[in-house]
Amino acid sequence: MKTPSVLLINPWIADFAAYDLWAKPLGLLYIGKFLRNYGYELQLIDLMDRLKWNNSGSVMNHPGRGKYHKTIVPKPEAVVHVPRRFGLYGATKEQFLSALQNIDPPPAILVTSHMSYWYPGVAATVKILREYFPSAKIILGGIYATLFPEHARQNIKPDFLISGYGEKKALQILDSLFGISRDYSIIPDFDDSGRLPWELYPKIESVPILTSRGCPMNCDYCATPFLNPAFKQRKIRSVVTEILWLYEQLNVRRFAFYDDALFTNKEHHIIPILESLSRHGIKAEFHTPNGLFAREIDGVLAVLMKQTGFRTIRLSLESIIPKWQKASTEKVSTDHFEQALQNLANAGYQRSDIEAYLIMGLPGQTFIEVEKTIRYVAQKGAISRLASFTPIPHTRGWEKARAEGYVWDEMDPLLTNNTLYPCASADFPVEKFMELRRLSNNLNELVRKSSKKENA
Ligand code: SF4
Repeated sequence: MKTPSVLLINPWIADFAAYDLWAKPLGLLYIGKFLRNYGYELQLIDLMDRLKWNNSGSVMNHPGRGKYHKTIVPKPEAVVHVPRRFGLYGATKEQFLSALQNIDPPPAILVTSHMSYWYPGVAATVKILREYFPSAKIILGGIYATLFPEHARQNIKPDFLISGYGEKKALQILDSLFGISRDYSIIPDFDDSGRLPWELYPKIESVPILTSRGCPMNCDYCATPFLNPAFKQRKIRSVVTEILWLYEQLNVRRFAFYDDALFTNKEHHIIPILESLSRHGIKAEFHTPNGLFAREIDGVLAVLMKQTGFRTIRLSLESIIPKWQKASTEKVSTDHFEQALQNLANAGYQRSDIEAYLIMGLPGQTFIEVEKTIRYVAQKGAISRLASFTPIPHTRGWEKARAEGYVWDEMDPLLTNNTLYPCASADFPVEKFMELRRLSNNLNELVRKSSKKENA
């Protein structure tokens, strides 16, 4: 029998703006690894692989980070009023078609999805796949498919839709297509051991790593507890072996930890991981684009972070207002934040190297509360990073936003785009959000300038 095979597709992003922060379609690659373990051959087209398409003009300046190439397309009806240009980000259509020409026609195609409001990019990708491979079965999974399954069924029209963990479900669907039977009672829903199929990338210079799945916290506005109901950390050896393999075999020198709770259980997880990497003499950069739990950054961990090569450090602060800290599972207090900054400074970081995530736009949150928090971060010598709240189904934040009329069950996910400030109101209009962004930018600039002066 011919080896069963599947084509993995990371689709276009459709948005007003998109920026690459060491991103790769981790969920899709985890499923690919799982399927490979059960005998499937994999092919991959990652439309967001800037290094492969080499069309963004910024690849060399910021390895692992940078702007994607944008192809302007007409705005979808729901956002036609937004005075910005809408586009498909990633490979051009010609590049996509040429990649399709070079692969064997696949019997089945697994398409992932990320932010729900990027779905026009998924729709555009699937349209081309249908035209090119009319007999292939399309299986759609990922975050959008899990959060808005009915919308995805109606708008993308996949042959199969997977909600939630996709590994075992994808295997069962593919087995049914290929006429393969096996005992599923002994097959886990997912398996995070081993390394991902990174060799599917023709060239790779930075890699996102997950050392765990899920998060032990349960913040009002976050979909992680729904998407990943159980918090599970990988085995230390598995993480270290994967990083060493990438370092030695593929010459990767930049890693971004994509965990939601990287420092949880630190004595038995991240500390032994970093110590082991140090013992192996790894000389690499480590970045943490997701918020870190400040309370875990004690003197020992701060020194280890510096020694191992942590560069981008982002702490979850969200707000200094107790009410909003409570909505964030009280994962950080101002005392924790200040202590973490001090420990990182003692370890050799500039305070202006440290960024703090702040949230704005929660239903009921006021302009003054956000402003105070931005000023507090600047006063502590750190950089503020404003994240604007977007309501996500299956969260308490969504329920609250729905109760106040900002969102409704059948709404177009495009309207949840955070650049539209979905919970703007008469008391806290869009102009005020823009004012806060300007304030944050101005104070960040002052913080950086004064830090430079101090070091001159
Ligand atoms: S700590 Fe972060 S990942 Fe965890 S629930 Fe809160 S926002 Fe989500």
